[in-house]
Amino acid sequence: MNVCVYTLGCRLNQCESEGIADAFTAEGFNIVNDKEAAEIYIVNTCTVTSKAEQKARRMIRHFAHDGICIVTGCYAQMNRGDIEALAEGIVVVPLDKKAHLLTLPKHIKVAMESGMDLKEAVGSFTDSKASVFDYDAASFSYHSRAYLKVQDGCDNNCGYCRVHVARGPSQFLEPEKVVERALQLKKEGFNEIMLTGVNLTMYDHKGEGLGGLIEKLLAASDSDVRYRMSSMEADHVDDRLLNTFKDPRIQPHFHIPMQSASNKVLERANRKYDKNHLIYIVNKLKEIKDDPFIAIDVITGLPQEDDEAFEETYEFIKEAKFAKCHVFPFSPRPNTDFYHAKDKVPEYLRDERAAKLRALSDELHSEYMERQRGKECDVIFQARKKGVYTGLTGNYIDVLIENPPAFAKEGMLFRARFNDDVTSKKTPYVTILE
Ligand code: SF4
Repeated sequence: MNVCVYTLGCRLNQCESEGIADAFTAEGFNIVNDKEAAEIYIVNTCTVTSKAEQKARRMIRHFAHDGICIVTGCYAQMNRGDIEALAEGIVVVPLDKKAHLLTLPKHIKVAMESGMDLKEAVGSFTDSKASVFDYDAASFSYHSRAYLKVQDGCDNNCGYCRVHVARGPSQFLEPEKVVERALQLKKEGFNEIMLTGVNLTMYDHKGEGLGGLIEKLLAASDSDVRYRMSSMEADHVDDRLLNTFKDPRIQPHFHIPMQSASNKVLERANRKYDKNHLIYIVNKLKEIKDDPFIAIDVITGLPQEDDEAFEETYEFIKEAKFAKCHVFPFSPRPNTDFYHAKDKVPEYLRDERAAKLRALSDELHSEYMERQRGKECDVIFQARKKGVYTGLTGNYIDVLIENPPAFAKEGMLFRARFNDDVTSKKTPYVTILE
Protein backbone atom coordinates (compact mmCIF):
# COMPACT_ATOMS: atom_id res chain seq x y z
CA MET A 1 0.00 0.00 0.00
CA ASN A 2 1.40 3.44 -0.95
CA VAL A 3 1.83 6.21 1.63
CA CYS A 4 2.84 9.80 0.85
CA VAL A 5 4.13 12.04 3.65
CA TYR A 6 3.96 15.64 2.43
CA THR A 7 5.86 18.23 4.48
CA LEU A 8 5.66 22.01 4.75
CA GLY A 9 7.85 24.28 6.84
CA CYS A 10 10.96 23.86 8.92
CA ARG A 11 13.63 21.19 9.21
CA LEU A 12 12.05 19.92 12.39
CA ASN A 13 8.89 19.11 10.45
CA GLN A 14 11.04 17.34 7.86
CA CYS A 15 12.72 15.36 10.62
CA GLU A 16 9.39 14.36 12.15
CA SER A 17 7.98 13.40 8.74
CA GLU A 18 10.98 11.13 8.17
CA GLY A 19 10.22 9.43 11.49
CA ILE A 20 6.60 8.87 10.46
CA ALA A 21 7.61 7.61 6.99
CA ASP A 22 10.10 5.25 8.61
CA ALA A 23 7.39 3.84 10.90
CA PHE A 24 5.27 3.04 7.81
CA THR A 25 8.26 1.48 6.02
CA ALA A 26 8.93 -0.74 9.03
CA GLU A 27 5.40 -2.18 8.72
CA GLY A 28 5.80 -2.96 5.02
CA PHE A 29 4.11 0.15 3.47
CA ASN A 30 5.62 1.74 0.39
CA ILE A 31 6.64 5.42 0.70
CA VAL A 32 6.01 7.54 -2.40
CA ASN A 33 6.34 11.21 -3.30
CA ASP A 34 3.47 13.63 -3.89
CA LYS A 35 3.47 13.03 -7.66
CA GLU A 36 2.61 9.36 -7.24
CA ALA A 37 -0.76 7.86 -6.30
CA ALA A 38 -1.19 6.75 -2.70
CA GLU A 39 -3.90 5.22 -0.52
CA ILE A 40 -2.83 7.25 2.53
CA TYR A 41 -1.59 10.85 2.53
CA ILE A 42 -0.14 12.54 5.59
CA VAL A 43 0.23 16.32 5.42
CA ASN A 44 2.61 17.78 8.00
CA THR A 45 1.64 21.46 8.11
CA CYS A 46 3.31 24.73 9.10
CA THR A 47 1.76 27.89 10.54
CA VAL A 48 4.64 30.38 10.23
CA THR A 49 3.16 32.29 7.28
CA SER A 50 -0.28 32.56 5.74
CA LYS A 51 1.30 31.33 2.47
CA ALA A 52 2.35 28.04 4.11
CA GLU A 53 -1.22 27.59 5.35
CA GLN A 54 -2.63 28.38 1.92
CA LYS A 55 -0.41 25.77 0.31
CA ALA A 56 -1.41 23.22 2.96
CA ARG A 57 -5.11 23.80 2.21
CA ARG A 58 -4.51 23.35 -1.52
CA MET A 59 -2.60 20.09 -1.05
CA ILE A 60 -5.08 18.72 1.51
CA ARG A 61 -8.01 19.31 -0.89
CA HIS A 62 -6.06 17.61 -3.66
CA PHE A 63 -5.01 14.59 -1.56
CA ALA A 64 -8.43 14.18 0.09
CA HIS A 65 -9.86 13.68 -3.40
CA ASP A 66 -7.49 10.74 -4.06
CA GLY A 67 -7.23 8.85 -0.76
CA ILE A 68 -7.34 9.06 3.01
CA CYS A 69 -5.83 12.36 4.10
CA ILE A 70 -4.40 12.72 7.61
CA VAL A 71 -3.35 16.24 8.58
CA THR A 72 -1.00 17.13 11.42
CA GLY A 73 1.53 19.83 12.40
CA CYS A 74 1.40 23.40 13.70
CA TYR A 75 -1.43 24.61 11.43
CA ALA A 76 -3.53 21.58 12.39
CA GLN A 77 -2.93 22.47 16.04
CA MET A 78 -4.02 26.10 15.60
CA ASN A 79 -6.95 25.75 13.16
CA ARG A 80 -8.39 22.27 13.32
CA GLY A 81 -11.92 23.35 12.32
CA ASP A 82 -10.75 25.16 9.16
CA ILE A 83 -8.92 22.05 7.99
CA GLU A 84 -11.77 19.67 8.73
CA ALA A 85 -14.08 21.90 6.68
CA LEU A 86 -11.91 21.57 3.55
CA ALA A 87 -13.25 18.18 2.40
CA GLU A 88 -15.06 15.07 3.57
CA GLY A 89 -13.19 12.47 5.58
CA ILE A 90 -10.09 14.48 6.56
CA VAL A 91 -8.54 13.12 9.76
CA VAL A 92 -6.86 15.84 11.84
CA VAL A 93 -4.17 14.78 14.30
CA PRO A 94 -3.21 17.93 16.20
CA LEU A 95 0.44 18.71 16.86
CA ASP A 96 0.33 17.58 20.48
CA LYS A 97 -0.60 14.12 19.19
CA LYS A 98 1.58 14.08 16.08
CA ALA A 99 3.97 11.53 17.57
CA HIS A 100 1.04 9.12 17.93
CA LEU A 101 1.23 8.71 14.16
CA LEU A 102 4.37 6.67 14.76
CA THR A 103 2.15 3.82 16.00
CA LEU A 104 -0.55 4.25 13.33
CA PRO A 105 1.08 1.93 10.73
CA LYS A 106 1.11 -1.01 13.13
CA HIS A 107 -2.49 -0.30 14.11
CA ILE A 108 -3.61 -0.20 10.44
CA LYS A 109 -1.80 -3.43 9.68
CA VAL A 110 -3.33 -5.33 12.63
CA ALA A 111 -6.81 -3.86 12.04
CA MET A 112 -6.76 -4.79 8.34
CA GLU A 113 -5.52 -8.28 9.12
CA SER A 114 -8.57 -8.67 11.37
CA GLY A 115 -10.89 -7.79 8.46
CA MET A 116 -11.38 -3.99 8.59
CA ASP A 117 -11.05 -1.92 5.44
CA LEU A 118 -8.52 0.93 5.37
CA LYS A 119 -11.02 3.64 6.29
CA GLU A 120 -12.28 1.70 9.30
CA ALA A 121 -8.72 0.87 10.33
CA VAL A 122 -7.69 4.56 10.32
CA GLY A 123 -10.99 5.58 11.99
CA SER A 124 -10.49 3.11 14.83
CA PHE A 125 -7.05 4.47 15.70
CA THR A 126 -6.87 5.82 19.24
CA ASP A 127 -4.11 7.68 21.05
CA SER A 128 -0.82 6.00 21.82
CA LYS A 129 1.90 6.78 24.34
CA ALA A 130 4.51 7.99 21.81
CA SER A 131 6.62 10.99 22.93
CA VAL A 132 7.71 14.03 20.90
CA PHE A 133 11.23 12.58 20.77
CA ASP A 134 10.27 9.20 19.35
CA TYR A 135 10.98 10.21 15.75
CA ASP A 136 14.24 8.24 15.54
CA ALA A 137 14.01 7.21 11.91
CA ALA A 138 16.25 4.30 10.93
CA SER A 139 15.88 5.19 7.24
CA PHE A 140 15.25 8.49 5.49
CA SER A 141 12.83 8.35 2.58
CA TYR A 142 12.94 11.96 1.45
CA HIS A 143 16.54 12.98 2.40
CA SER A 144 19.98 11.45 2.04
CA ARG A 145 21.26 12.81 5.34
CA ALA A 146 19.95 12.13 8.80
CA TYR A 147 18.02 14.49 11.06
CA LEU A 148 18.16 14.12 14.81
CA LYS A 149 15.53 15.93 16.86
CA VAL A 150 17.00 17.00 20.19
CA GLN A 151 14.66 19.83 21.24
CA ASP A 152 11.04 20.91 20.86
CA GLY A 153 8.96 23.96 21.87
CA CYS A 154 10.10 27.44 22.87
CA ASP A 155 9.86 29.60 26.02
CA ASN A 156 10.19 32.90 24.14
CA ASN A 157 7.28 34.99 22.99
CA CYS A 158 8.42 36.88 19.89
CA GLY A 159 5.83 39.41 18.74
CA TYR A 160 5.28 37.89 15.28
CA CYS A 161 5.52 34.18 16.08
CA ARG A 162 2.82 31.62 16.64
CA VAL A 163 5.06 28.58 16.51
CA HIS A 164 5.73 28.76 20.25
CA VAL A 165 1.94 28.84 20.78
CA ALA A 166 1.50 25.70 18.68
CA ARG A 167 4.53 23.83 19.98
CA GLY A 168 4.36 24.77 23.69
CA PRO A 169 7.26 25.19 26.14
CA SER A 170 10.84 24.12 25.49
CA GLN A 171 11.74 20.48 26.15
CA PHE A 172 14.73 18.40 25.18
CA LEU A 173 15.99 14.86 24.69
CA GLU A 174 18.42 13.64 27.38
CA PRO A 175 22.09 13.88 26.23
CA GLU A 176 22.67 10.13 26.68
CA LYS A 177 19.76 9.45 24.30
CA VAL A 178 21.06 11.99 21.78
CA VAL A 179 24.49 10.34 21.79
CA GLU A 180 22.96 6.86 21.51
CA ARG A 181 20.82 7.88 18.51
CA ALA A 182 23.69 9.69 16.76
CA LEU A 183 25.92 6.62 17.09
CA GLN A 184 23.10 4.42 15.79
CA LEU A 185 22.61 6.68 12.74
CA LYS A 186 26.33 6.50 12.03
CA LYS A 187 26.19 2.71 12.28
CA GLU A 188 23.34 2.73 9.76
CA GLY A 189 25.63 4.54 7.30
CA PHE A 190 24.77 8.21 7.82
CA ASN A 191 27.94 10.28 7.80
CA GLU A 192 26.08 13.54 8.21
CA ILE A 193 23.63 14.34 10.98
CA MET A 194 21.68 17.56 11.38
CA LEU A 195 20.59 18.46 14.90
CA THR A 196 17.12 19.98 14.89
CA GLY A 197 14.66 21.63 17.25
CA VAL A 198 12.14 24.46 17.32
CA ASN A 199 14.65 26.60 19.20
CA LEU A 200 17.78 24.45 19.16
CA THR A 201 19.95 26.80 21.24
CA MET A 202 17.36 26.64 24.02
CA TYR A 203 18.53 23.05 24.59
CA ASP A 204 19.54 22.93 28.22
CA HIS A 205 20.37 19.93 30.34
CA LYS A 206 21.52 20.83 33.87
CA GLY A 207 22.52 24.34 32.78
CA GLU A 208 25.05 23.07 30.23
CA GLY A 209 23.26 24.39 27.17
CA LEU A 210 23.64 23.21 23.60
CA GLY A 211 27.43 23.57 24.00
CA GLY A 212 27.41 20.90 26.72
CA LEU A 213 25.43 18.54 24.50
CA ILE A 214 27.76 19.00 21.53
CA GLU A 215 30.83 18.41 23.71
CA LYS A 216 29.38 15.04 24.75
CA LEU A 217 28.40 14.20 21.18
CA LEU A 218 31.85 14.97 19.79
CA ALA A 219 33.59 13.03 22.58
CA ALA A 220 31.57 9.92 21.73
CA SER A 221 31.70 10.17 17.90
CA ASP A 222 34.09 8.88 15.24
CA SER A 223 36.31 11.28 13.35
CA ASP A 224 34.49 10.82 10.02
CA VAL A 225 31.01 12.01 10.97
CA ARG A 226 29.72 15.52 10.13
CA TYR A 227 27.35 17.49 12.34
CA ARG A 228 25.26 20.49 11.39
CA MET A 229 22.99 22.79 13.39
CA SER A 230 19.60 23.33 11.77
CA SER A 231 19.09 26.91 12.98
CA MET A 232 20.47 28.93 15.88
CA GLU A 233 18.52 31.64 17.71
CA ALA A 234 21.14 34.19 18.77
CA ASP A 235 20.05 34.66 22.38
CA HIS A 236 21.51 31.38 23.71
CA VAL A 237 24.63 31.30 21.55
CA ASP A 238 27.45 31.54 24.11
CA ASP A 239 31.22 30.95 24.18
CA ARG A 240 30.85 27.34 25.26
CA LEU A 241 28.77 26.59 22.17
CA LEU A 242 30.98 28.65 19.86
CA ASN A 243 34.09 26.82 21.13
CA THR A 244 32.62 23.45 20.11
CA PHE A 245 32.48 24.74 16.53
CA LYS A 246 36.30 24.64 16.42
CA ASP A 247 35.97 20.89 15.92
CA PRO A 248 36.22 20.09 12.18
CA ARG A 249 33.26 17.70 12.50
CA ILE A 250 30.99 20.73 13.00
CA GLN A 251 30.34 21.95 9.48
CA PRO A 252 31.06 25.57 8.42
CA HIS A 253 27.42 26.31 7.76
CA PHE A 254 25.17 28.23 10.14
CA HIS A 255 21.70 29.62 9.98
CA ILE A 256 20.63 32.51 12.21
CA PRO A 257 17.00 33.73 12.32
CA MET A 258 18.22 37.30 12.86
CA GLN A 259 15.07 39.16 11.70
CA SER A 260 16.53 42.66 12.19
CA ALA A 261 19.76 44.32 13.26
CA SER A 262 18.05 47.35 14.78
CA ASN A 263 17.88 47.28 18.58
CA LYS A 264 14.57 49.09 18.71
CA VAL A 265 12.94 46.63 16.29
CA LEU A 266 14.42 43.64 18.13
CA GLU A 267 13.21 44.98 21.45
CA ARG A 268 9.72 45.71 20.12
CA ALA A 269 9.54 42.14 18.77
CA ASN A 270 10.56 40.83 22.19
CA ARG A 271 13.76 39.32 20.82
CA LYS A 272 16.27 38.56 23.59
CA TYR A 273 19.51 39.86 22.00
CA ASP A 274 20.86 43.04 20.51
CA LYS A 275 23.00 44.07 17.55
CA ASN A 276 26.25 43.83 19.55
CA HIS A 277 25.54 40.19 20.30
CA LEU A 278 24.95 39.53 16.60
CA ILE A 279 28.26 41.20 15.75
CA TYR A 280 30.00 39.07 18.38
CA ILE A 281 28.55 35.82 17.02
CA VAL A 282 29.30 36.60 13.38
CA ASN A 283 32.90 37.64 14.13
CA LYS A 284 33.47 34.52 16.21
CA LEU A 285 32.06 32.20 13.53
CA LYS A 286 34.37 33.79 10.96
CA GLU A 287 37.34 33.49 13.30
CA ILE A 288 36.62 29.80 14.02
CA LYS A 289 35.78 28.62 10.50
CA ASP A 290 37.29 29.55 7.13
CA ASP A 291 34.67 31.68 5.36
CA PRO A 292 31.64 29.81 6.74
CA PHE A 293 28.31 29.85 4.92
CA ILE A 294 26.19 31.99 7.24
CA ALA A 295 22.57 32.35 6.20
CA ILE A 296 20.09 34.57 7.99
CA ASP A 297 16.34 35.12 8.10
CA VAL A 298 15.18 38.74 7.96
CA ILE A 299 11.65 40.07 8.30
CA THR A 300 10.95 43.41 6.65
CA GLY A 301 8.22 45.75 7.91
CA LEU A 302 8.20 44.65 11.54
CA PRO A 303 6.59 47.24 13.86
CA GLN A 304 9.03 50.12 14.64
CA GLU A 305 11.04 49.52 11.46
CA ASP A 306 11.41 53.09 10.24
CA ASP A 307 13.83 54.11 7.45
CA GLU A 308 16.71 54.45 9.85
CA ALA A 309 16.12 51.00 11.42
CA PHE A 310 15.91 49.40 7.98
CA GLU A 311 19.12 51.11 6.80
CA GLU A 312 20.88 49.84 9.92
CA THR A 313 19.79 46.28 9.12
CA TYR A 314 20.75 46.68 5.45
CA GLU A 315 24.22 48.00 6.27
CA PHE A 316 24.80 45.32 8.87
CA ILE A 317 24.00 42.55 6.37
CA LYS A 318 26.22 44.13 3.74
CA GLU A 319 29.14 44.48 6.09
CA ALA A 320 28.76 40.99 7.59
CA LYS A 321 28.79 39.56 4.02
CA PHE A 322 26.28 36.86 4.84
CA ALA A 323 26.19 34.12 2.22
CA LYS A 324 22.41 34.22 1.92
CA CYS A 325 19.40 36.10 3.34
CA HIS A 326 15.96 34.55 3.48
CA VAL A 327 13.69 37.57 3.35
CA PHE A 328 10.12 37.52 4.67
CA PRO A 329 7.78 40.51 4.41
CA PHE A 330 5.99 40.76 7.76
CA SER A 331 2.35 39.73 7.87
CA PRO A 332 0.51 39.75 11.19
CA ARG A 333 -0.59 36.31 12.35
CA PRO A 334 -3.55 35.56 14.61
CA ASN A 335 -2.69 34.64 18.23
CA THR A 336 0.46 36.78 18.24
CA ASP A 337 1.26 40.06 20.02
CA PHE A 338 1.67 41.83 16.68
CA TYR A 339 -1.74 40.86 15.34
CA HIS A 340 -3.28 44.08 16.59
CA ALA A 341 -0.08 46.21 16.59
CA LYS A 342 -0.77 49.90 15.97
CA ASP A 343 2.77 50.70 14.74
CA LYS A 344 2.64 48.59 11.58
CA VAL A 345 4.70 49.63 8.55
CA PRO A 346 2.78 50.35 5.31
CA GLU A 347 2.78 47.33 2.99
CA TYR A 348 4.37 49.16 0.05
CA LEU A 349 7.38 50.07 2.23
CA ARG A 350 7.61 46.55 3.63
CA ASP A 351 7.67 45.13 0.08
CA GLU A 352 10.16 47.71 -1.23
CA ARG A 353 12.51 46.83 1.60
CA ALA A 354 12.07 43.10 0.96
CA ALA A 355 13.00 43.63 -2.71
CA LYS A 356 16.08 45.66 -1.70
CA LEU A 357 17.26 42.96 0.67
CA ARG A 358 16.65 40.20 -1.88
CA ALA A 359 18.81 42.08 -4.39
CA LEU A 360 21.52 42.47 -1.76
CA SER A 361 21.26 38.77 -0.93
CA ASP A 362 21.78 37.85 -4.61
CA GLU A 363 24.92 40.02 -4.71
CA LEU A 364 26.33 38.57 -1.51
CA HIS A 365 25.53 35.04 -2.62
CA SER A 366 27.35 35.57 -5.94
CA GLU A 367 30.39 36.92 -4.09
CA TYR A 368 30.34 33.96 -1.72
CA MET A 369 30.17 31.46 -4.57
CA GLU A 370 32.98 33.17 -6.46
CA ARG A 371 35.16 32.97 -3.36
CA GLN A 372 34.86 29.14 -3.53
CA ARG A 373 36.74 28.91 -6.84
CA GLY A 374 39.63 26.45 -6.54
CA LYS A 375 39.01 25.91 -2.81
CA GLU A 376 39.25 22.49 -1.17
CA CYS A 377 36.17 21.17 0.57
CA ASP A 378 34.56 18.04 2.01
CA VAL A 379 31.73 16.64 -0.04
CA ILE A 380 29.19 14.01 0.84
CA PHE A 381 27.71 11.98 -2.02
CA GLN A 382 23.98 12.43 -2.20
CA ALA A 383 22.46 10.80 -5.24
CA ARG A 384 22.99 9.83 -8.84
CA LYS A 385 20.56 11.59 -11.14
CA LYS A 386 20.57 11.00 -14.89
CA GLY A 387 24.09 9.55 -14.71
CA VAL A 388 25.52 12.50 -12.74
CA TYR A 389 26.49 12.34 -9.08
CA THR A 390 25.36 15.16 -6.82
CA GLY A 391 26.84 16.06 -3.47
CA LEU A 392 26.70 18.51 -0.60
CA THR A 393 29.77 20.35 0.63
CA GLY A 394 30.54 21.08 4.27
CA ASN A 395 29.50 24.69 3.68
CA TYR A 396 26.14 23.50 2.35
CA ILE A 397 26.57 24.01 -1.37
CA ASP A 398 24.88 21.55 -3.70
CA VAL A 399 27.47 20.40 -6.22
CA LEU A 400 27.93 18.08 -9.17
CA ILE A 401 30.80 15.60 -9.03
CA GLU A 402 33.23 15.74 -11.95
CA ASN A 403 35.07 12.42 -11.42
CA PRO A 404 33.10 10.11 -9.11
CA PRO A 405 35.14 7.06 -8.08
CA ALA A 406 33.63 3.77 -9.31
CA PHE A 407 32.99 2.63 -5.71
CA ALA A 408 31.18 5.88 -4.71
CA LYS A 409 27.92 5.38 -2.87
CA GLU A 410 25.34 7.69 -1.36
CA GLY A 411 26.47 8.98 2.04
CA MET A 412 30.25 8.57 1.37
CA LEU A 413 32.55 11.46 2.27
CA PHE A 414 35.34 12.70 -0.01
CA ARG A 415 37.87 15.51 -0.15
CA ALA A 416 37.29 17.62 -3.26
CA ARG A 417 38.14 20.91 -4.94
CA PHE A 418 35.75 23.44 -6.45
CA ASN A 419 36.35 23.98 -10.16
CA ASP A 420 37.57 27.40 -11.30
CA ASP A 421 34.36 28.44 -13.03
CA VAL A 422 32.08 28.51 -9.95
CA THR A 423 29.28 31.08 -10.08
CA SER A 424 25.93 31.42 -8.33
CA LYS A 425 24.17 30.98 -11.70
CA LYS A 426 24.46 27.21 -11.96
CA THR A 427 25.19 24.20 -9.77
CA PRO A 428 29.00 24.16 -9.44
CA TYR A 429 31.26 21.21 -10.17
CA VAL A 430 33.86 19.78 -7.79
CA THR A 431 36.70 17.38 -8.56
CA ILE A 432 37.41 14.53 -6.11
CA LEU A 433 40.99 14.65 -4.79
CA GLU A 434 41.46 11.23 -3.22
S1 SF4 B 1 12.45 32.15 19.45
FE1 SF4 B 1 10.74 33.46 18.94
S2 SF4 B 1 10.43 33.08 16.73
FE2 SF4 B 1 11.63 31.36 17.50
S3 SF4 B 1 10.08 29.78 18.04
FE3 SF4 B 1 10.55 30.97 19.90
S4 SF4 B 1 8.97 32.56 19.96
FE4 SF4 B 1 9.00 31.74 17.87
